[in-house]
This record gives sequence, structure tokens and C-alpha cells, in this order.
Amino acid sequence: MIENGEPGVARREEFRSFVEATIAPHAARFDREEKLDHDVIRKIAGAGYLTPWLPKKWGGEAMDMTVYGLLNEEVGYACAATRSLLTAHGMVAQAIHRCGSTSQRDRYLPLLSNGDRIAAFALSEPAVGSDAAHPELSAVPVTDGFRLQGTKTWITLGQIADLFLVLAQCEGEATAFIVDRRSEGLSVTPIAGMLGARGAMLATLDFDGCVVAADQVLARPGSGFSLVAATALDHGRYGVAWSCVGMIRACLDTATRYTSERSQFGAELSQHQLVRRIIADMLTGQHAADLLCRRAGTLREAGDPNAVMETIIAKYFASKAAMRAAVDAVQLLGANGCSDRYPVARILRDAKVMEIIEGSSEISQLSIAGHAYRQHPVGSGPPPAEST
Ligand SMILES: Cc1cc2nc3c(=O)[nH]c(=O)nc-3n(C[C@H](O)[C@H](O)[C@H](O)COP(=O)(O)OP(=O)(O)OC[C@H]3O[C@@H](n4cnc5c(N)ncnc54)[C@H](O)[C@@H]3O)c2cc1C
Repeated sequence: MIENGEPGVARREEFRSFVEATIAPHAARFDREEKLDHDVIRKIAGAGYLTPWLPKKWGGEAMDMTVYGLLNEEVGYACAATRSLLTAHGMVAQAIHRCGSTSQRDRYLPLLSNGDRIAAFALSEPAVGSDAAHPELSAVPVTDGFRLQGTKTWITLGQIADLFLVLAQCEGEATAFIVDRRSEGLSVTPIAGMLGARGAMLATLDFDGCVVAADQVLARPGSGFSLVAATALDHGRYGVAWSCVGMIRACLDTATRYTSERSQFGAELSQHQLVRRIIADMLTGQHAADLLCRRAGTLREAGDPNAVMETIIAKYFASKAAMRAAVDAVQLLGANGCSDRYPVARILRDAKVMEIIEGSSEISQLSIAGHAYRQHPVGSGPPPAEST
């Protein structure tokens, strides 16, 4: 585990300086205007932050997964919408890295790594959400590849992505395709007015007889959900969990500063015991989320198969803690918390999204409970009752 020693501290300082200079000054505007700046995306790519965990041969720096977590935390601290770029783009890169052919890796990974191409992950559909293993978008084999018909929606970065990882139903099996944005028969419609992650430039993708070449299938047909989407979602979840740690920290920083400066009833707010209780819970939530994320990071770095479940647990807990911290921070700032003078109202809206994406809280609970029951199968029995 990378503790708060080398190389974690030095890299965190580097990430923080970058975020303070490049992202933080624009976060409120991205939220207001519902879009990111291309210039900021270019700078993130230029700093090597899009897919730093990739091996060097494909343009990454083989970054330690906990250090990558710190990057997500620092970006998430300033702007959850900008951080969603790391998730959506990284999910596609990770899926190609883990599941792609050699030629697909050689073709796409360097371009994704340096930001020449921006990628988006297209799983959700109007009628397919949490139960994502059964997409309705169809892929029918034709002589020159596959013909896609159907709709994907809520696609982060859909408005600007150059390529999409699309999950389709092909002869009864979920199959993943890499689809170029310029493909004939594909149209992109921006989605506006989201509650949170408003800068994430969501879009709906309509495929109307869009033909994709056979070599654009990622992994074998039928492994689209169990392998490709699972790989992508696991990667995305990890970044979301760390982002939540950053969001809790942002709430804590704002709330402690505000309650130290404002007085009511003749005393600073920070001197009122009910206020201190809220601050205590916020800090505890931050520490617990941070530790769960570090545990997941260490297991990921070691290639431990338990990393998948520990990442679900980290994301579940951290997103809940971020939502709690944001609600509390708004409360502590009173009317100011409800305004756009402080970041906490934006963080509150963004935190709600974190409880829904990459596996909602309820779907996470089902996975975690399933894991608990597998660990304690019927027959292993409860501990014997103590005799009196
Ligand atoms: C800002 C944002 C960005 C997004 N980006 C992307 C993206 O890039 N790509 C993409 O493919 N999708 C994206 N999504 C969609 C997201 O993945 C889905 O919203 C999510 O999977 C939940 O699906 P749903 O919204 O259809 O809700 P539903 O699946 O309809 O669920 C509605 C509610 O019911 C609950 N529920 C469902 N099943 C159960 C159950 N068995 N037991 C208990 N409760 C249950 C859910 O937890 C949820 O609270 C994005 C969404 C948002 C808000």
C-alpha cells in the first residue's frame, strides 16, 4: 500500500498543483454551461493523466493504482464532471487493454493515451439500466460486419467522444463493439439539464442500420457483458470511489472554514456542539472511504481477484459518505450552502449521481450481500450459543 509517504505525497502535490491551476477555476462554469473546455481536456491529456495506469508501450506510465486513486481524488475534489472524463475514457481504454486483440490495442491505446481520441462507454439504454446484461440494441451479422440498430442513452462524453464502446445483443448474446463516431447511421443528440455531473456532456446515441466491421468486435461474441462491460465497470467504479473521497474532503474544507468564520448566538458556529458532531462524522466518513479505496487500490495493484468486490464496497461506502457529507455541508452553510457562492450545492448534486452510476447503491448492496452469503454458506452455521 502507498502510505502518505513516497511516492504518494509527491504525486499528490503534483496532481493538486495541476488541478488548482487547470481545473478548479473553471468547475463552477463547467457546471453552469454544462460542458467542459476542450483546452482543459487537452491539458489533462498533455499531463499524461487520461490513462496513466497503462503500460509504457501504449503511452501510460504504469502508474500504481493507489497513486491513480489520488489523481481521481484530487480532480474529484475540484470538479466531479471533469473527473468523469477519467472514468468514461479510462473504462474504454481498460476494456481494450484487457480484452482487445493485439491489433486493437496497438491501434487504439496510444491514441486514447495521448488524447488524440476521446472514448465513451455506451451500455445504458432507455429501457435497460441496472439490468444491463441484456441490451436491446441489436447487432445483426451482415456480409461486411454487423448492422447495429437501437439506442444508447445517458452516455458520458457522448457529445464529444470520437469512439464508443457499445454493448449490443448479437444472436442472443451480449457483444461489445468499438464504433467510430463518424460511422454512417449513427447520430448523437446532446442531453441537457442533468441534476449533477452537468459538465459531463451526456448524449443519446441512435444507431439506425449502422454497419460496423467484424474486426471491431471486442473480445469474443457473447463476452460483452461478463468480460468487457464487467472489466470497464470495475475500472470506472474505482475512480468514482476515489472521486467521492475528494468530494467529502471538499465539503469538509468548506464547512470547517465557514463554521470557523461565521458566528451566531454570540459564538462561532464551530463552537456549537451540534455543529462539531456533524464535522466529526464528515471527517470519519472521509477517513473510512479513503481506507477502503486504499485497500481496493492495493489489491488491484497486486492483481488480487478480491479487488473487484473490495472496489464495489469502497464505491458503495464512499458514494454514500459523499452524499451525507454534501447534505451536511449545505446544512452547515445555511442559505449560503444553497447558493452558488460556495461549491457545496454543486457537490451535493454531483454526489447524488455517484450513488447511481457504475452500479447504483442498491445494486452494490445486492452484490455485497451476495458476497457475504458466499463467504458464510449454509452449513457453516452460526457460532454455538453460549451456555448459561
Ligand atoms: C450523470 C450520469 C452519467 C452516466 N453515464 C453513463 C455512461 O457513460 N454510460 C452508460 O452506459 N450509462 C451511463 N449512465 C447511466 C447509469 O449507468 C444508469 O443510470 C444506472 O445504471 C442505473 O440505471 P437506470 O438509471 O436505468 O435505473 P434503473 O435500473 O431503472 O433503476 C432505478 C432504481 O431502481 C433501483 N433498482 C434497480 N434494480 C433493483 C433491484 N434489483 N433491487 C433494488 N433496487 C433496484 C436502482 O438502484 C435505482 O435506484 C449515466 C447516468 C448518469 C446519471
